[in-house]
Amino acid sequence: MSAQQMADAYLSGTALDLPDGHFINGRFVAGQGDRMESVDPGLGEAFASFALGGAAEIDAALDSSRKAFEMWRLVKPSDRTAILLRCANAIRANADRLALVEAIDSGKTLAEAQGDVASSARLFEYYAGAADKLDGRSVDLGPDYTAFTRREPVGVTAHIIPWNYPTSTFARGVAPALAAGCTVVAKPAETTPFTALLLAEILTEAGVPEGVINVVTGLGRDAGAALVSDPRVNHITFTGSVATGVAVTQAAAPNVTRLTLELGGKSPLVAFADADLEAVADGATWAIFSNAGQICSAGSRLIVERGLRDDLLDRLKEKAQAITFGHGLRNPDMGAINSDLHLGRVAAHVDAARARGCKIVTGGNVATDPESGKGWFFEPTIIADLSADDPAVQDEIFGPVLSVQVFDTEDEAIRLANGTAFGLMASVYTPDLGRAMRLTQALDSGQVTVNDYWAGGVELPFGGNHKSGYGREKGLEGLEAYTTTKSITIKNASR
Ligand code: NAD
Repeated sequence: MSAQQMADAYLSGTALDLPDGHFINGRFVAGQGDRMESVDPGLGEAFASFALGGAAEIDAALDSSRKAFEMWRLVKPSDRTAILLRCANAIRANADRLALVEAIDSGKTLAEAQGDVASSARLFEYYAGAADKLDGRSVDLGPDYTAFTRREPVGVTAHIIPWNYPTSTFARGVAPALAAGCTVVAKPAETTPFTALLLAEILTEAGVPEGVINVVTGLGRDAGAALVSDPRVNHITFTGSVATGVAVTQAAAPNVTRLTLELGGKSPLVAFADADLEAVADGATWAIFSNAGQICSAGSRLIVERGLRDDLLDRLKEKAQAITFGHGLRNPDMGAINSDLHLGRVAAHVDAARARGCKIVTGGNVATDPESGKGWFFEPTIIADLSADDPAVQDEIFGPVLSVQVFDTEDEAIRLANGTAFGLMASVYTPDLGRAMRLTQALDSGQVTVNDYWAGGVELPFGGNHKSGYGREKGLEGLEAYTTTKSITIKNASR
């Protein structure tokens, strides 16, 4: 059955075949404690339940991961390459099922879920190619010594996964960790537990040895907190909110555990008056409304030169109002908000902006799936002419809400663009190459794109500055978190 046929079957009431329990030491282990319902955000109705793990399951997973590390770290790099390539192929072979479950669990559209699964396969393929190229270097200390470095795996790695890109965030951390010779304990978000479990099984069947990948489902404050505070963990990769990132950092500090933090942003798209109106309107639309705005690097702030403001706002309003939204499996332009809790947060941000007298150009309301009248949706929303200190400019809303600011000079554009606590991504639209290059240097963020908001790929490092976090994922830089450099010196025998 194709993904769409499986989607149609689910929508007409066929139950999903889902994994159950935690994945520890190469097999599913039944949960002992409470369970939690998984809710389809496109319907606002439970479709399954999963086990809530805690300290005992984390203990078992870490035990398994630590034992497996002693074996996996010694596997020949070229053999790790072969296994990771098989993983990429296995993800592709299971793409329809993964995308279906991802779309139902997260609320995103089937097309978005398919893209997410495809990029997950690419991540395994990319890091397969890197596993056998983790070379050290020789260092010249003069005639008395021979010196060289080795890149060694850091050990057991913890992966705390968010709900907005459950499959690709798992792959983004797990693929380089395995390539480097590390083992894994992953804790998916409580609203999206299933694709991590599916992936653990698929990757193990593809040849990843038992114990190398473990997944414990559960609440952040139980399973998550037990994992990040455990001294057996050598590196934590965390993706989520700033507040939880700070809590994870504090929990890791007593053990001096290494961290990669990817904490979100409030990324600007700077549009100069000489830019191509249609290209900016298209770029700005998908920068904020893709995945219903639930993207850490979403272009949530449009900073537009005054001469372009009126025409651009007219085009953006038309485009926003033309966006179809609804249950992700019917493949509209935009899917659901991941949980009713998060929908409430998005709505509260917009209600507060309305109460402050901000200009809501379009949208601004909670909505439902047009076909069923159910589910958790928010209209594509544009809030215009905001001051630099407005909360709609400063706070990460993490929903389909675009904040618009106007500028008159290049210096002002840079000041506004850099004027938040974050620094994940930025984009510039102008045909003036000199100006574009000046901005690529002046914008304070981990990534800058010119004349195309979503330019990039698994090959390009990704990560932020300031409250967007630290460390880089993807690209060859993504391996650095999972390796440590050992320097070796040998005294040369004298003649
Ligand atoms: P969160 O940061 O609380 O959750 C992210 C992950 O951390 C989940 O797996 C959760 O179980 C886990 N977690 C929570 N508390 C933990 C703890 N004490 N120790 C270890 N792990 C813990 O995010 P949320 O509450 O689901 O969403 C809130 C906000 O986070 C959103 O509004 C958005 O701004 C932001 N967010 C950002 C991203 C991103 O990609 N950067 C992703 C999701 C959410």
